[in-house]
Amino acid sequence: MPELYVDGAWRDALGGGTREITCPADGSPVRTVSEGGPGDVDLAVAAARAAFDTGPWPSTPAPERAALLHRVADLLERDAAEVARRESLDTGKRLVESDYDVADVVSVFRHFAGLAGAEAGRVVDTGRPDVVSRVVHEPVGVCALITPWNYPLLQTAWKVAPCLATGNTFVLKPSELTPSTALWLMDALTEAGLPAGVANLVLGDGAEVGAPMTEHADVDLVSFTGGLSTGKRVMVAAAATVKKIALELGGKNPNIVFADADLEVALDMALTAVFLHSGQVCSAGARLLVEESIHDDFVEQLVERAALIRLGGPFDDDAETGALISAAHRDKVEAYVAAGVAEGAKLLLGGERPTGPAYDAGYFYLPTVLDGCTSEMSVVQEESFGPVLTIETFGATGASSDEVEDDAVRLANDSIYGLAGAVWTRDGGRAERVAARLRMGTVWINDFHPYVAQAEWGGYKQSGIGRELGSAGLEEYRETKHVWHNTRPTVQSWFDGRKP
Ligand code: NAP
Repeated sequence: MPELYVDGAWRDALGGGTREITCPADGSPVRTVSEGGPGDVDLAVAAARAAFDTGPWPSTPAPERAALLHRVADLLERDAAEVARRESLDTGKRLVESDYDVADVVSVFRHFAGLAGAEAGRVVDTGRPDVVSRVVHEPVGVCALITPWNYPLLQTAWKVAPCLATGNTFVLKPSELTPSTALWLMDALTEAGLPAGVANLVLGDGAEVGAPMTEHADVDLVSFTGGLSTGKRVMVAAAATVKKIALELGGKNPNIVFADADLEVALDMALTAVFLHSGQVCSAGARLLVEESIHDDFVEQLVERAALIRLGGPFDDDAETGALISAAHRDKVEAYVAAGVAEGAKLLLGGERPTGPAYDAGYFYLPTVLDGCTSEMSVVQEESFGPVLTIETFGATGASSDEVEDDAVRLANDSIYGLAGAVWTRDGGRAERVAARLRMGTVWINDFHPYVAQAEWGGYKQSGIGRELGSAGLEEYRETKHVWHNTRPTVQSWFDGRKP
């Protein structure tokens, strides 16, 4: 079946290119899809341009746009099992994680349905009776939406739902590795009643499809989620025609554990923070910062628990985490671990591939723990984006309470990234002080990874640009931080090694 969706119809790529999608857990074939190129991008952008310039969508009343987004959420609830299955086959992640992702996607569509039409504008009091003055919000135009492979439909929903809620049209390019849920989405948008040309999908790789989208003169906005180096290229390409731009880039996220934390919960969640989805999470807690006085016990227990983590395929009920996305990605993770060891880190666990019939055909890599790390090491500074935990200590013996806190904050902020981080302590004042000083878009207190569609998501520093596109005034000049404070942390045992 043709897999490019342009102007309300499925079609094959102009050049006839195809790609075989395989499951990273075992290499089994998932589907063969059409892959496009610059000519297909031209057609898709032309359709989106016409739908924006002459179609009904940008002027569709907000309640109707909201109703359409709710219908997409309804369809997702109807098809949840199939969508989760597709996500797991493409990514190799456990089905239970895909189920959570689908529930999150539903919440994203419902959240933006609620926002459609909210803050429609305001009347400005000029003090002059002969003047009517008002501020209105209008759609930007044609949006190029480019997404990565780790949370394919969730990342897509974060872009598609607000894009449609505000009356824009779009061309979507998912990662070449994980297109299956984007295919479902196009059918769902059509079934929900979206006019032809508003939503367009071009599959293909970054060079052939992504780059032409970011360079195209008829594209008004680029919203990109992916790695830092690609993000920089996108920024340069978008500069030629001064497109509006949103970048959600990488992270190297510190998880700070003070000696006065509830250590049982902190330990449990330190495992979840880094090993969920085998570390292929932009907000993964890949940097553990432990207060020196508890380092030895905490790390010993952590390694014991991490050694019990079970790897497996998406439909293996005993598995606690899965494979990496590709052979190339596993090579990259291995290279970071090797570099860390060469730079002086001590390998406490993992650092190799599991062997055996359950693993040999997939891209598995064992949970890996590197101790004695410093923030100069490349494995600490750069995203390995795999199941690799680096451990640094702070708060040398004899330091005062303030010095311990300062040390933790200094280390945590010693990064070009600023996506997310967490602080563990029973001292509420310390928790709030540290959260306030972390230069990150999301800070969890006594928790890790929870996400709500209602809160802003985005990065400080080189983790990204922009959450509030099209606004003027204060938003251009301030960062927005979401502080999540769990006042009753509990053990969740995502990785307890006690499964049958
Ligand atoms: P990536 O290699 O940067 O690719 C992201 C997307 O960009 C893919 O669709 C890719 O296409 C496309 N692309 C590649 N070159 C391009 C170019 N020159 N112009 C336009 N598009 C281009 O990232 P990834 O490996 O897929 O994803 C992992 C990264 O995403 C990590 O760094 C992670 O931290 C980040 N991420 C960030 C967030 C966040 O919220 N901040 C969330 C999730 C992931 P192909 O791959 O198909 O060639």
